[in-house]
Amino acid sequence: MGLYPIFADLTGLPVLVVGGGHVAERKIAMLLASGARVRVGAPMLTPALLQQVEEGRIEHLDGTFQPAWLDGVWLVIAATDDHELNARVAASAEDRRILANVVDAPALSRFQVPAVVDRTPLTVAISTGGAAPVIARRVRETLEAELDHALGPLTALAQRHRTRITQRWPDLAERRAFYDWLHDGPVMALLRNARSNEAEQMLLDALHAPASPPAKGTVLLVGAGPGDPGLLTLRALRALNQADVILHDSLVSEAVLALARRDAERIDVGKRCGGRHTQQEQIHQLLLEHAQAGRLVVRLKGGDPFVFGRGGEEMEFLHQHGIACQIVPGVTAAVACAAYAGIPLTHREHARTVHLLTGHGKESMDAMDWPALAQDHQTMAVYMGVARLDELTLRLLEHGRRPDTPFAIIENGTLPQQRVISGALRDLPALAKEHAVHPPALLIIGEVAALTHAHAWFGSLA
Ligand code: SAH
Repeated sequence: MGLYPIFADLTGLPVLVVGGGHVAERKIAMLLASGARVRVGAPMLTPALLQQVEEGRIEHLDGTFQPAWLDGVWLVIAATDDHELNARVAASAEDRRILANVVDAPALSRFQVPAVVDRTPLTVAISTGGAAPVIARRVRETLEAELDHALGPLTALAQRHRTRITQRWPDLAERRAFYDWLHDGPVMALLRNARSNEAEQMLLDALHAPASPPAKGTVLLVGAGPGDPGLLTLRALRALNQADVILHDSLVSEAVLALARRDAERIDVGKRCGGRHTQQEQIHQLLLEHAQAGRLVVRLKGGDPFVFGRGGEEMEFLHQHGIACQIVPGVTAAVACAAYAGIPLTHREHARTVHLLTGHGKESMDAMDWPALAQDHQTMAVYMGVARLDELTLRLLEHGRRPDTPFAIIENGTLPQQRVISGALRDLPALAKEHAVHPPALLIIGEVAALTHAHAWFGSLA
């Protein structure tokens, strides 16, 4: 190992930063956050630094660097754009046995400032020893995405009760098992959901319970988005990493499933119209069985679980059976397909409202408020509409929607094979037939749909 990694407690210790620009500003912010007493030495300061001086948060040494600035200082950071000056600061520090860092000059530095993932009190520091800070930054981005934000509060909680935990489980193996439960179980889930008081109470209950708390399963209803894995939320990604079992729809793309924990059990409960499918009741039973067996169950749905996804029914069923249930929203098809086709769903000139509708089944057709939908200057986003395009078009025209109202069909939205077919409402059924549109496809009707011609940026236009 090249460098010796340390985390320094700088509380109340004087630290000098030479330079008063934006780089210095960033370094000073971190130093202040760790409690150091910052002196900034420079002839000129940024407005933000000046304000901090005025507020008495930092001390200003005016002028050009002189070795006396180092009096009483524990660390120094040289952050000027003058290489010679930086070198002089480093040399003076070396004479006085003060550790120095010169920004972007590892050869002149006695210590390096790592890239940091902050989940205070948990801190992850990454360094390449100055070899390639860009790589350190990339690693930091990966960890930022991976590390749950609730790790901060969890670590703080463990810190507060550490002595009691050690007393309760003096045996190391048992203690480890308890910490595993803290990290993987319901306490963490509560913290993730901003319920810190309940989390603490649960930890205390477990401390007073006669035995280790029994595992209890949880179901996460997770929105997988429309297909492009880049549209997953961080929460969804983390859920996929933690899941013991994943029950997914057929709409969930392979690229998304590939991000799941390798050893998670995967069950395809895809409900394809016409094809082989799993009844909703069966899905409920599967969810229940796996959760009751103490597993972390992820119910992964295309788009958003609460938009034409029957997530509401699954949540109600699970609650009736006493199973904890959490929802991770996803980017719904209407939002994603519109974006990937360059169609703003609302637009000050073209549409002030958006209707999310489903064209699935006769009942939904009959239930629609056709006179309202036939008004112009509004957008309709129709899910599962491919099979009923004739009827849909006819009804809209009958109720007076203009025949030249633009439409766009986005097939396989956000996937590499995305196609956009567009035209005027009167030609909708014919064009869809001509281009052999297949599900999944989302239909957008309304003035905004015309914008796809000018603003398409993804996939192909038919
Ligand atoms: N819960 C999902 C919708 C499920 S209903 C969501 O929020 O998006 C299934 C319908 O969604 C499909 O018939 C289609 O109309 C639409 N859909 C889902 N993914 C799509 C995609 N990648 N491209 C186009 N339409 C999609």
